Amino acid sequence: MEDSEVVIIGAGICGLATALALHRKGIKSVVFERSESLRNITGSAIGIRQNGWRALDRLGVADILRHTAALVKRDRFVLLDGGKQQAMPMDGETRCLRRKDLIDTLFDALPPATVKFGCQLESIKIDPNTTKPVLQFIDGSSIIPKVVIGCDGGKSIVADFLNLRPPKMFPLCGVRGLTNYPNGHFFEYEFARFKKGNNLVGRIPINDKLVYWFCAQPYVPRDGRIWEDPEVIRRSCLDLLGDYPQEIKEMIEKADMESLSFSRLRYRTPWDLLTGTFFKGTVIVAGDAMHVMGPFLGQGGSAGLEDAVVLARNMAKLGFNHVESGKKVAVHGIEEAFNLYVKERRMRVVRLSLQTYLTGMLFGASSWLNKVICIALLFVLFKNGSGHIDYDCGDL
Ligand SMILES: Cc1cc2nc3c(=O)[nH]c(=O)nc-3n(C[C@H](O)[C@H](O)[C@H](O)COP(=O)(O)OP(=O)(O)OC[C@H]3O[C@@H](n4cnc5c(N)ncnc54)[C@H](O)[C@@H]3O)c2cc1C
Repeated sequence: MEDSEVVIIGAGICGLATALALHRKGIKSVVFERSESLRNITGSAIGIRQNGWRALDRLGVADILRHTAALVKRDRFVLLDGGKQQAMPMDGETRCLRRKDLIDTLFDALPPATVKFGCQLESIKIDPNTTKPVLQFIDGSSIIPKVVIGCDGGKSIVADFLNLRPPKMFPLCGVRGLTNYPNGHFFEYEFARFKKGNNLVGRIPINDKLVYWFCAQPYVPRDGRIWEDPEVIRRSCLDLLGDYPQEIKEMIEKADMESLSFSRLRYRTPWDLLTGTFFKGTVIVAGDAMHVMGPFLGQGGSAGLEDAVVLARNMAKLGFNHVESGKKVAVHGIEEAFNLYVKERRMRVVRLSLQTYLTGMLFGASSWLNKVICIALLFVLFKNGSGHIDYDCGDL
């Protein structure tokens, strides 16, 4: 494998966005992805609120993406048990993007050959003589880059190298899917959630034919391999939603089988985020590798986009010397840039993950006492429940 100065591990949302942010600042990077091709189907779609759109604007891809997804105008929560519902206008720009559109757009904006597929990182060690990181891949090859950015998701090898504690699991799982209505659907452009007992179904139209939905349900331990079968995934939802409205059951019945995915919900605890070491020398984490969180606020992906902008801005400001052949890494400057990035991001992700954690606990709480505690904490700590979307990651 050829050596390069700046290496990113993982070509998910955060890895691609980080490579693009660096590219916009004139910094070359190489992304190593373990899959053989772009992972643009898993997870079907992703809701992006105005903080995420700000980051996409800074990355220069927001306008392309706006054409792919309609504005979501309303937030509606329906309690099927008691027949109560609450609806309010959606704050700020909100759209639901097909993951394929987001991933493909980020990828297409990168210089050719930025992403190397089929390259799975196995371990990182520090060379005792040079103090540089040595990346070992499972095919036996190794490289010694100057800078390593771990965007390798919730089960991150780079986070392990930094001795971050392993993420925890919510006692919940999420199924996601897309349903295509060839003659058009009749749903409002709203983020609608339907709750009954411990089950929750969410629905957001992407455009006039395509609808994204998710189903959150209590986790029941079973052999993990059964979730590779889309029919099992679809059945698991339909079996739980016996007395849900017909239009919801039909939406799940008609789902595009390729789009179905099942995920256990992981999170890094807010207190681990408060105290964790996010970089060592010139090795750092971003995206889910840093702050994997439950989907209850729909902010994990947007937080990764924000990371990309803040990290590239600080790296460009402090981490490079200009030489005739281009920009060259200045190791001390990179460490200073990483320090600033962590300072800028730590409290943002602590607050996001705390609000997400409390919202998830409220959803899963079985006793009234726990519910009351979660509601009280949410009220005291997050008076404005959608204050998190006002965050601006700043210019690139
Ligand atoms: C049910 C559910 C719903 C969600 N809904 C939303 C939402 O509405 N809005 C939102 O903003 N977020 C949402 N999220 C969160 C969002 O999906 C994640 O935060 C986001 O995908 C994380 O991106 P990432 O690039 O950091 O990590 P990932 O998407 O996990 O990407 C990591 C990449 O690294 C690669 N990789 C891993 N290990 C290695 C290795 N050793 N070597 C090489 N490559 C490696 C993987 O193959 C992958 O391509 C949701 C999550 C779930 C589970």
